[in-house]
Amino acid sequence: MTDLEEFKSLLAEISDLSGIAAIAGWDKETQMPKGGADTRATQLSTLAKVIHLKETAPRVGDLLASLEPALATADTTDGALVRLMRLEFTRRSKLPADFVAEFSKAQSVAGSVWEAARPRNDFKSFQPHLEKMFEYTLRAADLFGYDSHPYDALLWDYDPGLRTAHIKDIFTELRAFTVPLLKRIVAAGETVDYSILERSFPIDAQRAFALEVAQAFGYDYDRGRLDVTAHPFATNFSRDDVRITTRFDEHYFPMAFYGVLHEAGHAMYEQNTAPELRRTPLARGAWSTAHESQSRLWENLVGRSEAFWQHWMPRAQQHFAALADVDANTMYKLVNRVQPSLIRVEADELTYNLHIMLRFELELAVLEGSLKVSELPEAWGAKMQEYLGVTPPDDRDGVMQDIHWSSGYFAYFPTYSLGNILSVQLFEKAESQMGDLHAMFARGEFKPLLHWLTHAMLRHGKTYLPPELIERSTGSALSAAPYLRYLTKKFSGIYNLE
Ligand SMILES: [Zn+2]
Repeated sequence: MTDLEEFKSLLAEISDLSGIAAIAGWDKETQMPKGGADTRATQLSTLAKVIHLKETAPRVGDLLASLEPALATADTTDGALVRLMRLEFTRRSKLPADFVAEFSKAQSVAGSVWEAARPRNDFKSFQPHLEKMFEYTLRAADLFGYDSHPYDALLWDYDPGLRTAHIKDIFTELRAFTVPLLKRIVAAGETVDYSILERSFPIDAQRAFALEVAQAFGYDYDRGRLDVTAHPFATNFSRDDVRITTRFDEHYFPMAFYGVLHEAGHAMYEQNTAPELRRTPLARGAWSTAHESQSRLWENLVGRSEAFWQHWMPRAQQHFAALADVDANTMYKLVNRVQPSLIRVEADELTYNLHIMLRFELELAVLEGSLKVSELPEAWGAKMQEYLGVTPPDDRDGVMQDIHWSSGYFAYFPTYSLGNILSVQLFEKAESQMGDLHAMFARGEFKPLLHWLTHAMLRHGKTYLPPELIERSTGSALSAAPYLRYLTKKFSGIYNLE
C-alpha cells in the first residue's frame, strides 16, 4: 500500500466510525427508550475515543509529512484532504490531553448546573461555572495561538479563516440598519389577523405538506427521513442517508413547517456534496456559516417569499380547512410577522439578528476583559432594551436562555446571522445567472435553484476554507449590503413603510 492509499483508507475508516456514531446519536434522540441512556452514553464515548485515537495517531503525522511535498498545494481532492487533515491534526495537538479532559469535565458540570439553575432563575449558582467556561476558553485560545484577538482562534472551530474584526464591521452595519427599521415596523402596527395561524392544523396534514414542499425543493426522500424530537436537527450517516427532525404544534402552523424547510436546507447540503468525496472528511458537514446559509435560504428566501405562497396556497388549502378563507398575499404577511420578543429561537427573520449581535458583543466583552461574568445579566437586559425595546423579567428568559455558553460554546452564535447574510449573497448571484427566481417559484420551479447551489457551493464540501468557498460561490467576500437591500424591500412592502 502506498502512503496515499494508507492515508485514505485510514480516513475512510474514521468516516465509517463517525457515521456509526451519528446513527447511535440519532437513535438516542428519536427511538431509544429512557432506560437505554446510560449504556448509550458509554457506547458513544467509546466510539469517540476510538475515533480520537485514530485521528491523533503519530502515524497520521508521519503520513502527512510524507504526502505534503507532493500534495500540500495541489488543486485536487487529495490535496484538499492533506490540507484539511494538517489543519485538524495541528489544532488537536496544541491542546494537552490533561487540559482537554479537565475542560470537558468542567463542561458537563456547567451544563448540568445550568439545566438545574435555569428553571429556578438562579444565575448566582451558575455564575462560577460560567466564569470557568470563559477561563478555559481563553486558555484554549492561548494554546491555539492568534495574531490579534483570542476570538479569532475560537472561530477556527466553526469557520476557519473568518476574522473577528470583519464580523464586527458586518454586525455594526447590520445593527445600525435593523434597530431603526424595527422601530418603524412596530410603529406601523399589525397588518393581518395573526390568530389564523393558531387555528387547527392536523399534525398528519402538517407532516405531509411539509414533506411535499421539501421534496419539491429537492430533498431526496429516498436518501432521507423525518422524525419527531424536542429540538429539531439534521444529521447524516453518509451523503445517501441524511435525516431531519421537527416538532409539531397542532395550533401553530409555522413551527413545524418552517422547521422542516430549515432542516431540509441543511440536509440538501449533505446530500449534494460530490459523490467522489464519500468516506472522506471533506464530505461531512461543511462549515457553519455556509451550512446555515442553506437552511436560511430555503426557509426564508424561498419559503417565506410571496411567490412561494402564490404557488403553494391552493395545495395548502387542500391540506388545511383552516386556510380556506386565506389568500396567498395574506399568508405571506402572516408568516413574516415581525415582533420583538425575549427568546432567540422564537424570533422572526428580522429581530433574530439582534439576538445574535447581543450575544456576540457580550461574549467578546467578557473575553476581552471589559465585562465581568457577574455583570452579564444587567448588560443583557440593557442591550435587549436598546436593540429590541423589551426587557427580560428574569434571567431564565434572559442571560440563561441558551445552552451554548453553559457548554463553553463561544464564537458559535455569529454563524447564525452570517448564514443569513451569505444566503442573500448566494441568492443574488444565482438570480444574476438564472433570471427572475421568484417568477420560477410562482410556477412551482424550485429544483433549478438547488442545482445552481450544488454547482456553486454544495458539491465542494470542505474542499475550500470558508473565505475561499464564499469568494468562489458568490464572487465576493461576506458582505452585509445585499442582505440589507433584501430586508428593506421585503419589510417595507409588508408593513407599507414609505
Ligand atoms: Zn440551522
